[in-house]
Amino acid sequence: MKLSFVIPCYNEEGNVIAFYNEVEKEFDNKKDDLELIFINDGSKDNTLKDLKSLLKDSKFKIKIINFSRNFGKEAGIYAGLKECKGDYAVIIDADMQQPPKLVKKMMEEISKNSDIDMVCYYQEKRKESKVLSLFKKIFYKVMSKSMNMNIQDGASDFRLFNRKVIDTVTSISEHDRFSKGIFNWIGYNTIYLPYTPLKRQKGKTSWSFKSLLKYGLNGILSFSNKPLKSFYKFGIINLLISIIWFIINIVNCLEIEYYIIPSIVLLFAINNIMLGVISEYIYRSYNETRNRPIYIIKDVLSNEKNK
Ligand code: UDP
Ligand code: MG
Repeated sequence: MKLSFVIPCYNEEGNVIAFYNEVEKEFDNKKDDLELIFINDGSKDNTLKDLKSLLKDSKFKIKIINFSRNFGKEAGIYAGLKECKGDYAVIIDADMQQPPKLVKKMMEEISKNSDIDMVCYYQEKRKESKVLSLFKKIFYKVMSKSMNMNIQDGASDFRLFNRKVIDTVTSISEHDRFSKGIFNWIGYNTIYLPYTPLKRQKGKTSWSFKSLLKYGLNGILSFSNKPLKSFYKFGIINLLISIIWFIINIVNCLEIEYYIIPSIVLLFAINNIMLGVISEYIYRSYNETRNRPIYIIKDVLSNEKNK
């Protein structure tokens, strides 16, 4: 069973060597079964130099995918998965927050049960500020509701999966990638294991509050048409309000000037309903251009004999 490590790296000078040493220590007996794919995502420090130094005397098969500039972690994950040759792949950060030895546990879990396709670590207790933690909790709730799926709170990108999942994920080639959503959307059987991320070895996180907000919004917009549908709903609510208002005015035989505001509400309602119709067309064409598969077959079972 061959396993590919997919390791996105952005300004991970120092960390990549430590990461490699840890993998070497933990997986010494798996020399022929391991492939390490590092994606240098336009690092501005000596990450590439460090990575090149690994090529010389590594025990494992190493591949460095060197991006022409910074494209973001999501692009790195996609490139790594497209390139990997393993029967299994694990996505893991280069900064040692996700200890490589935990991959063994994932392999154990997935080998134990042939029905399991994916093992994902989730953060049980968050070590970040209360505000950020609350923000993330709300995000997972909104995301789960708007996708009509259950997204595990604290689920990370630290996950291991089989070839079926690798091929399915790489067949989805949309540009604004949101891996957590994609991994949920494709289905398959996933088990979640709790873990506590360690402290970053060197350097600092590339996430700011602004970039997290952008990431969250991207997730919701990529996986839900609910924001577009809200025009329609808003229009219907306004329409009902204006109708009730008109009825009350008529019943009370009010003067003509009392009809001005409900008329404005009515116009507003018509406007929003029309926008809702337009947004339905926009969503449909957006859905087509994303080109997601219409269905995903996990297995085909048959009693037909090979001839
Ligand atoms: N990363 C990347 N491209 C980016 C930002 C981050 O490849 O534009 C990599 C980074 O090197 C690390 C992983 O993604 O291996 C997670 O990044 P980071 O540690 O900054 O995020 P956090 O752990 O704070 O969520
Ligand atoms: Mg990190």
